[in-house]
Amino acid sequence: MFAGRYAPSPSGELHIGNLRTAILAWLFARSTHRSFLLRVEDLDRARAGSEEQQIADLARIGLTWDEEPLRQTDRGDVYRDAITTLTARGLLYECFCTRRDIAEASSAPHAAPGAYPGTCRNLSESERVIKRRERPAALRLHSSVTELSVTDQIHGTYVGIVDDFVVLRNDGVPAYNFATVLDDLLQGIDQVVRGDDLLSSAPRQSYLRSLLAPDYDAAAPALTYAHVPLVLNSREQRLAKRDGAVTLADLELLGFGTSDVVARLLQSANLPGDPGREPSAQLQAALRVFDPDVLPREPWVFTEF
Ligand SMILES: [Zn+2]
Repeated sequence: MFAGRYAPSPSGELHIGNLRTAILAWLFARSTHRSFLLRVEDLDRARAGSEEQQIADLARIGLTWDEEPLRQTDRGDVYRDAITTLTARGLLYECFCTRRDIAEASSAPHAAPGAYPGTCRNLSESERVIKRRERPAALRLHSSVTELSVTDQIHGTYVGIVDDFVVLRNDGVPAYNFATVLDDLLQGIDQVVRGDDLLSSAPRQSYLRSLLAPDYDAAAPALTYAHVPLVLNSREQRLAKRDGAVTLADLELLGFGTSDVVARLLQSANLPGDPGREPSAQLQAALRVFDPDVLPREPWVFTEF
């Protein structure tokens, strides 16, 4: 199966930046005759009721998806099995560093900015025994590359860091990069459309996918990426809920219906939007003319409706 997806974290209501990315992900998938899947990325931050609210809002703006949404907290066994496999292949090692240890080590001269400096890579077994008494270990990937190039439909060729990133956090929770890559692989996803704040994680994820694919789906196609520009507030910072009326519910209180919001979001992406039509009809009209090449390359600054 070939599929695209939208994978929100249920940490609150979706704001118009999230909704815009979801619409674009749907347009990319449907315009290339892919399935479109939803995944609830609730391993880290989940607020009660958010998942239902988010899914209801995605339906309200006219999106359709092809299977029951996948919820990451239901998939502990899947992540554990993959950790076991990666461990058996000698690809993981224990890391006992605190955030502060890493900040100090990675600020040393010649360290790649933002990269784990490999402090725990070559600890001896006796050193590990001592450190295990002090704090629980995270598991890091033993990467054999330091950077990787990915191809993105918006950004072109992007070269970024691949370090020994965390796969299992020291509180036992699968790390974002790992859970995302494994789920994409197992769900048959081959197209990733998301905010461009995640572009720098694409090389790490692409590398991990190449390591996991032989165990899960040797025929897995390469990922197609499109990291779309974010929506910013009037101070040119990433839009957040504290920036005022930015959710469907907020805007409705101000008299703007879902059709108005969808029209505005489509227009912001250089696509036709008609507030006089139902959201799903607007999306179908946008789908007929959708072309990634006409999408704006700059962030959309949202001031007020
Ligand atoms: Zn470490």
